[in-house]
Amino acid sequence: MKKYDYVIVGGGLFGGVMAFHAVKQGKSCLVVERRPHLGGNLYCEDVDGIPVHRYGAHIFHTSDREVWQFVNGLVEFNRYTNCPVANYRGEMYNMPFNMNTFSRLWGVTTPKEAMEKIEAQRSGVTGTPANLEEQAISLVGTDIYEKLIKGYTEKQWGRDCKELPSFIIRRLPVRYTYDNNYFNDPYQGIPIGGYNGLTEKLFAGCDVLLKTDYLADQERFDAMGERVIYTGALDAYFGCCFGRLEYRSLRFEDDVYDTDNHQGVAVVNHTAREVPYTRTIEHKHFDCTRDYREIPRTVVTREYPAAWEEGMEPYYPVNDEKNQALYKRYEELAEREEKVIFGGRLAEYRYYDMDKVIRSALEAAKREFGVQAGL
Ligand code: FAD
Ligand code: UDP
Repeated sequence: MKKYDYVIVGGGLFGGVMAFHAVKQGKSCLVVERRPHLGGNLYCEDVDGIPVHRYGAHIFHTSDREVWQFVNGLVEFNRYTNCPVANYRGEMYNMPFNMNTFSRLWGVTTPKEAMEKIEAQRSGVTGTPANLEEQAISLVGTDIYEKLIKGYTEKQWGRDCKELPSFIIRRLPVRYTYDNNYFNDPYQGIPIGGYNGLTEKLFAGCDVLLKTDYLADQERFDAMGERVIYTGALDAYFGCCFGRLEYRSLRFEDDVYDTDNHQGVAVVNHTAREVPYTRTIEHKHFDCTRDYREIPRTVVTREYPAAWEEGMEPYYPVNDEKNQALYKRYEELAEREEKVIFGGRLAEYRYYDMDKVIRSALEAAKREFGVQAGL
């Protein structure tokens, strides 16, 4: 049996960046991935020439120039800028919350008028917001909270907004300008043709075992590597000995339409509580370097939030106090595992975007290989 320098558990972004640097240092790597493909949640499936984001919309955005240079050194990005639209009972509002939203909602035309509206509606919240509801109302007032936040958030997280941490809503910009860009970061785009090209570059030179669960045969895999890079769920690594960490999961359902343009935008958020899905994604609009009319069909994916159960994909960590405290206990155990590097969204139990995962992996690579981050 071949002995590898590294056994990498998980073929996602964290594993990929570590693999890239390991191979660059002349190290041998075996990647063990449970799914039938590499790429983790970035994986794209080709449907009629449309790169379908199989695990939900993935838009790369960052303020980290080194990370941006790193990915652009590997693949070419398009100029996609995310400008989703929220559908609330047939009323369409621009997201994130900006002058277009305020104008549509209240008929206001100036930032001053919008601020006055919001000021009047947030007077009920005083002091530091204690939960997501208070945070949302203090940022944008009660009208927007009721139409664009409450229903979406409670579907997404399966719990009341009063029981959710406020940081979740602070992910979204609030702007008193007519600017529909969902992100504030200076760098944004999507790899031309989808993310699989990036994945191929990251894992080039590695041996790969797909459809293989590392934990089902851990001893054998541990014996195959000098070191292990583990990017799966941390509680599962330790046999859930302190109890389970909570996650949120998702279910995706596709529709293929015989039209070249179904919803006119890549992302529509469905914010009413009674609509069971949170987003519809029309994938061809991510590929903005290409004229959408070239392909006479289109793929639209509905995204349904779901409670996580054994056997489902754990997409989102639930970073409330209870779960954070439990995670800390697992983290203490992880620190004692000298042969193993833990990293990524699941092993670090953090609501990481792609750029943050890459940054985390570049730092881990520096510690492990003593090299500078970047190419
Ligand atoms: P993952 O991609 O989850 O990779 C971990 C891999 O490990 C998986 O492939 C898994 O199958 C495998 N694995 C786990 N356990 C085992 C085991 N026991 N044996 C073998 N293999 C195992 N980020 C953005 O920057 N922009 C976005 O627009 C964006 N949109 C998102 C939308 C959705 C719906 C979701 C869920 C996430 C989104 N993200 C976005 C976040 C992004 O997906 C993550 O930051 C990134 O994919 C995390 O990479 P990772 O390597 O940590 O984890
Ligand atoms: N959110 C909302 N209405 C929307 C979009 C987002 O209330 O139309 C809230 C919701 O609580 C969500 C959070 O903002 O969990 C962060 O949104 P983001 O788009 O960053 O979520 P992600 O892409 O990570 O699922």
